[in-house]
Amino acid sequence: MGLSRRNFLKAAAGGGLLAASQLSPVPVWAREPKTRLPEALGILYDATLCIGCKACMTACKEFNSLPPDPSSPEGLWDDPLDLSAKTYNIVKLYRSGTGQTKDREEDGYSFIRRFCMHCVDPACTSACPVNALSKDPVTGIVRYNKDLCIGCRYCQIACPFNVPKFEWDTPFPQIKKCQLCDHRLVRGSYPACCEFCPNGASVFGDVQSLRKEAKRRLGLPAGSQATFPVHRIDTGEYRYATVGHYFPRVYGEVDGGGTQVLIMAGVPFNRLGLPDLPPESTASHSETLMHTLYKGMIGPYVLLAGLFYLVYKNTSKKDLP
Ligand code: SF4
Ligand code: SF4
Ligand code: SF4
Repeated sequence: MGLSRRNFLKAAAGGGLLAASQLSPVPVWAREPKTRLPEALGILYDATLCIGCKACMTACKEFNSLPPDPSSPEGLWDDPLDLSAKTYNIVKLYRSGTGQTKDREEDGYSFIRRFCMHCVDPACTSACPVNALSKDPVTGIVRYNKDLCIGCRYCQIACPFNVPKFEWDTPFPQIKKCQLCDHRLVRGSYPACCEFCPNGASVFGDVQSLRKEAKRRLGLPAGSQATFPVHRIDTGEYRYATVGHYFPRVYGEVDGGGTQVLIMAGVPFNRLGLPDLPPESTASHSETLMHTLYKGMIGPYVLLAGLFYLVYKNTSKKDLP
């Protein structure tokens, strides 16, 4: 078996890091993980209430002035297959077996929204060498500053949710992603996806209240009738709906150090394409590793040794024709 360039880089990085972790006395954290801000803002997305109408996608496009993003060369429809520089929010479909029953893992289906999670301790801001991505110290919104960006795309590699997208088709490309409609927030409004969601599946608010609401939902008996806030958590506006069969936890409570977008669903989150992340913050973990590797310039030598070792191993006799 040949050794592709991609596999070589992956293996070399893995080997170097493994060697580093074994050879150097690693401190557990280079810095404390960031914690949730008291006035953090976010969105609670409840897939059991989502009807897949994509009103949130259309509203996101309209209020962020995003062009159509057709999946076919003919370009007859705006039907993106994934997030892109032209699509900050997408509703995907999970389907299993006969796909008959909503919010069931087997022989069922579920909708799932994907957009920036506005992480508590974001890996994108940590990876950005020039602070072009930064976290608002009050609201926790993760914003992008095009004037600072040097186009290195480290944020793309760092994000565990594969969110930031690069504009490949413009002469002066920028990184594009959801910024929690901050241009609407400053005018006293709120995210367009929540304003136009007809079913209360996407609700905007302060993260403390959203977490409380998510926990209330987990305690409701499945199949009973209950009230659900619509559009935003603080208006008292609500609708009645049947309580779904919830997977018994809220995604984003702790995952990857926590996120300001919280997700509830009837299907296990990893089946919906959400990554299985440890509770430790991804950003502080990677910063610890980098600081350790470069401390006293020991790391680069260890990395080089790892590279040599893996090249030797992967090009040994058994791989030769
Ligand atoms: S989801 Fe990705 S882009 Fe969004 S804040 Fe987290 S790390 Fe950054
Ligand atoms: S908050 Fe705004 S930018 Fe983000 S997904 Fe919703 S509509 Fe789109
Ligand atoms: S607008 Fe609401 S119900 Fe419709 S797809 Fe988006 S989240 Fe689901």
